[in-house]
Amino acid sequence: MPTKHARCSASAAHRWINCPGSVALSDQCPDPGTSSYADEGTLAHSLAELKLRHALKELTTGQYKKQLAKIQQSDYYNAEMDEATDFYVDAVLEEFAAADEGAELMIEQQLSLEQWIPEGFGTSDVVIVSNTQIQAIDLKYGKGIKVEAKNNPQLRLYGLGAAVLFGSVYDFDTVKTTVIQPRLDHVDSEVVILKELLLWGEEEVAPRAIMAMEGTDYMAAGDWCRFCPAKTRCRKRAEFNLELARMEFQKPPLLSDEEIGEVLAKADHLQKWAEEVNQYALEQALAGKHFEGWKLVEGRSIRKYADETKVASTLMAAGFDEAMLYQRKLNGITEMEKLVGKKKLAATLGDLLIKPAGKPVLVPESDKREASNTTEAAKADFTNTDDEIASF
Ligand code: SF4
Repeated sequence: MPTKHARCSASAAHRWINCPGSVALSDQCPDPGTSSYADEGTLAHSLAELKLRHALKELTTGQYKKQLAKIQQSDYYNAEMDEATDFYVDAVLEEFAAADEGAELMIEQQLSLEQWIPEGFGTSDVVIVSNTQIQAIDLKYGKGIKVEAKNNPQLRLYGLGAAVLFGSVYDFDTVKTTVIQPRLDHVDSEVVILKELLLWGEEEVAPRAIMAMEGTDYMAAGDWCRFCPAKTRCRKRAEFNLELARMEFQKPPLLSDEEIGEVLAKADHLQKWAEEVNQYALEQALAGKHFEGWKLVEGRSIRKYADETKVASTLMAAGFDEAMLYQRKLNGITEMEKLVGKKKLAATLGDLLIKPAGKPVLVPESDKREASNTTEAAKADFTNTDDEIASF
């Protein structure tokens, strides 16, 4: 799969459409390089592509096995990835089966986005086209953030690129975009009228892309900052977050419920931003930079064995029984899923795999989770016991 990136890439479109100045500002910030998550995602995409090509008989079994063996040699390959890519292939084939008769499916389709973004291009994992609809499908291997299809600029751009590429051959009038996120059992789609999508491209994407490419200093902070290369040093983001300190509270000495709600709304941004700035400053300090009023010290550490085998043999020589020295511990569920496979583990363990109710947590009204009842049990779980209070 191609790894080249456009300056205004489709994958970062949510950021630069909202904050076109982030493109020029990011030029001044060092590229953090690829992370292990990105490398894992790249391998998962290669495996997904391979399985899909095999399922569609684009590869012989011999070719498939040879390429599969190569992927399986990677340290990132595991049962969870195998299962997730099976999920993806099944979901894509379901979408294909549901498409109109005569539909065609393209894998890793290169798309020009130049009509809206100078030098813009992208690659859609899958494009399905028929005479009524065109569909762009994107695999998301990550599981940290659930990705929705609705108003998703990256998916919409793939849909636009595909619509323009195939528009002269097919007669579709709607564009469907689909995200498949196997590790969250999540498949989500949006269907947009082609004319509306073209309007969005012309009116919302193209002007922002030009601003971004021309190096505008127009910036706006928001949710999209968390993926910005400039996120730790950006003044706009700092000002946005520090607004919390400038809140004008009412006169009474106690904050009202409304004011507490306002603090909560900003505290999340503020906390994430503070952690990111802290991490950035630590990395810089370790590289030799001095921040006035701050110094590097050794953090707290815990005792550990220098050599576990020698510790055991020394204690056994001192008369302790081997069975007393070791404790057997079961793998955690994530580790076990990697080993056994998510579906297989659930099927094998049945009721032995339970999901207790989580501790209550306050989230904004916009959060998609259903509001939970404030039950006595939840309250009790959240309230300190007498023993805990005594230990303070
Ligand atoms: S951190 Fe946020 S406000 Fe600053 S440039 Fe990046 S996206 Fe824009």
